[in-house]
Amino acid sequence: MVFLPQFENKQGVKIRTRFAPSPNGALHLGHAFSALCAHDFAHAHYGEFIVRIEDIDGTRSRPDHIDAILADLAWLGLQPDASVQYQSAKIAHYETALEKLGALGLLYKCTCSRGDISAALKQAPVLHGPDGPQYPGTCRNRSVEAKSGFCWRIDTAKAVALTGLLRWRDLAAGDQIADPVQFGDVVLWRKDAPASYHLAATVDDAHGGISHVVRGRDLFAYTAIHRLLQVLLELPEPVYWHHPLLLDNSGQKLAKSKSSPALSVQRLAGADGPQLINKLRKGVLPLGNSMSSP
Ligand code: GLU
Repeated sequence: MVFLPQFENKQGVKIRTRFAPSPNGALHLGHAFSALCAHDFAHAHYGEFIVRIEDIDGTRSRPDHIDAILADLAWLGLQPDASVQYQSAKIAHYETALEKLGALGLLYKCTCSRGDISAALKQAPVLHGPDGPQYPGTCRNRSVEAKSGFCWRIDTAKAVALTGLLRWRDLAAGDQIADPVQFGDVVLWRKDAPASYHLAATVDDAHGGISHVVRGRDLFAYTAIHRLLQVLLELPEPVYWHHPLLLDNSGQKLAKSKSSPALSVQRLAGADGPQLINKLRKGVLPLGNSMSSP
């Protein structure tokens, strides 16, 4: 595949990658490219390609999307090398991880609604992170007695004081210093759904023996949070490859919300899945699509 980064498996590690879609919408070409990167990286190094369905958010995940995702992957010829994993079956692992972070004294309950947060942000000078304004810390030093209707946040600055400087490696972008503080106190356990993406993905990558996290460049900054959680939870450190993103004709990344054409439409219309994948493999993009710089 023309996009694969240089990598020599000098230590002979068992290579395992994953494609981890959230089943809250249909897959589009950007997903196909992401799955292809993870698949071909693993196979180029005699490793395994895993599919993990990130169906933890019961309010947005839909079984029909899961069926379509698996059918799309089979149609494209990107079959996983082991049985498909489901985050909804792993809640107990995330609870254990949360308890461990709690025992380190790094978590606090937060009862703030979106409205509370925007009101507080209007009053205090705000710090902006990659995800927008940081949580203003309203509940950080309050004792919240609530038994329900709260989420758990991590006191990120306190956590970083414990871990010290955090580093990680990206095969395309090189050695990185992680700066999770820029995100503020992120939510690790949600009010309306169990574990947050950050906690669940970090725990699963470790439990699944993922040696190389291959995913889109849009998730690059989040690695800082994942690296923090890995160190706190004493989990192994994977290597990352944040691959470039497929862009539409206005230079925007393909996204579900922008109604990029669903792969399933092409599949059901009888298009040739492996041919589509082979073109992507060679760097031939459909008309109107381009690739972001690495
Ligand atoms: N579930 C995430 C998504 O669909 C991907 C998470 C990841 O690869 O770390 O965007």
